[in-house]
Amino acid sequence: AGLVVAMDGPSGSGKSSASRGVARALGLRYLDTGAMYRAITWWMLQGEVDLTDPAAIAVRASEPALSMGTDPDAPTVAVDGVDAAGPIRTAEVTAAVSAVSAVPEVRRRLVAEQREIIGAGDIVVEGRDIGTVVAPEAPVKIYLTASAEARALRRTAELTGTTVEAQKAAMARRDTLDSTRKTDPLAKAADAVELDTTALNLEEVIAEVLRLIKE
Ligand code: C5P
Repeated sequence: AGLVVAMDGPSGSGKSSASRGVARALGLRYLDTGAMYRAITWWMLQGEVDLTDPAAIAVRASEPALSMGTDPDAPTVAVDGVDAAGPIRTAEVTAAVSAVSAVPEVRRRLVAEQREIIGAGDIVVEGRDIGTVVAPEAPVKIYLTASAEARALRRTAELTGTTVEAQKAAMARRDTLDSTRKTDPLAKAADAVELDTTALNLEEVIAEVLRLIKE
């Protein structure tokens, strides 16, 4: 079977840029599983689903059709045929996504679709539960971390109209929700290699992951 690289870790750890860079360097496909949780969340916000009610989320979880493009140079996400790449990155979706991703029906559906996309492999998959749940048999598992300060600084640089302090607080809240939920909580797989990216730039992170893959 083809190579599967599992890239897990909290937001701002540098997962997305590193995952795309590694996929590009090796000619592999790339799947952003966070974009799938964001896409369902965006669809539910538009449909005015009550996101404080897990049962309301659960009954609608299978309604929207998702379609993911896996080219690392131009990853795409569409919901019911509509391009959602822009809207899934808004602060509104970011603040709501943990409530949606905590619902078991949502996870069951998306994990099944992720396994389908992974298929025969040749792919870098980034998320929170790839090494533990989605692809526990992946031969390469990386768990990226970085200091809260470094993560908030990176996220602030990507956004406008926010501060490092506000980002630190928002990320701490999302991390807590993602790591304390009952289904598939964010956690390092026992056999994952932890890579602290605090003092590394993107090129250095990519080089280190490529080295770990060759090992
Ligand atoms: O990676 P990103 O920050 O875009 O992920 C958005 C959210 O989706 C996370 O905060 C988490 O709640 C959820 N997620 C998840 N499992 C994954 C990927 C993302 O629960 N594999």
